Parts: sequence; structure tokens; C-alpha cells
Amino acid sequence: MYGAEVWGELVNQIHRNKLLSLQRSILIIVSKAYRTVSTDALPVITGILPIDLKARERSQIYQWNYNVTQILTGHGDFYNKLASFKLHDRVTCECGEIDEVEHVVLNCPLYDDIRINYLESAIVQNWRTNLNFLTNKENIKQFTEFAKLTLKRRKKLRECELTQ
Ligand SMILES: [Zn+2]
Repeated sequence: MYGAEVWGELVNQIHRNKLLSLQRSILIIVSKAYRTVSTDALPVITGILPIDLKARERSQIYQWNYNVTQILTGHGDFYNKLASFKLHDRVTCECGEIDEVEHVVLNCPLYDDIRINYLESAIVQNWRTNLNFLTNKENIKQFTEFAKLTLKRRKKLRECELTQ
């Protein structure tokens, strides 16, 4: 299932048959069923989701995009990070604090309204140390929206600064 977040949505009938064939051998062992049992029956007997559906599910849960990746990795449009790579001289946020991903997600007053509307306190508290919150579809949706709106506002703030 490695990388199913990426390839899961691309599974066609040919891939599906190959995946199910692989899974079938394992499910026969797990269920102690005769080899004549149908492939469709094995997931029901074992309570294990057919592998093509599991892959598709994973790809739908993880709808990563450019913004979420920047927030999760901290590698992106954050002045302190850019300065560490000598790509920028400035290290402070528009609010005056050190501009890094933790500051943006947890503290920056410029994004308080977005944080309040899109991030549950449980997500905010755990987001860096425990990414399990991203196994919940609603949390992913909130986090994705937070990332999108926050980075969009940052871009706008910086464009305004440049024109002043
Ligand atoms: Zn700030």
C-alpha cells in the first residue's frame, strides 16, 4: 500500500485484478479457506477491505496540495526558512515575530480568524507532533482550507508590502 495516496485513484480494471489476485493469496491463508472460494467472498469473510478500495480510500483521504505540503513540512514561503537557505534576508513575519511555520499555525495574529474558523483546538495542539489527526476526513478538510486561506493571505500581505 506504499504510496497509495498517490496511485490509489489511478487504479483501473487491470490493476484491480492484479491487486485482488495478490490479496487473494493472503486472504486464503488468513481465512483458512479452500482455494475454490471466490475472490469476492474473501474480504467479507475476513473483514478486510478489498485492496483496490483501500487504495482508493487512502488517495481520497490524502488530498495533498501545494499549501498543505508547505505547512506540514515547514519548507515553503516562510522567511526564516528562506533565510536559512540564504534565499532571503528577512526573518520576521509581517507581525514582527520570527516567521516560521509554527508561528503561522499556532500564534500569528494575522491569521487568528482563519485559525478560529478552520482549525479545532485539538488539531492546533497536535499538528506537528501527531499527524494522526490527518486520518480523519473532516480534519483534513479543515487543515486543507486553513493552509489554503493562510498562504493566500500571506501572499496578498507580501504583495501589499512590496507596493508600499
Ligand atoms: Zn506573524
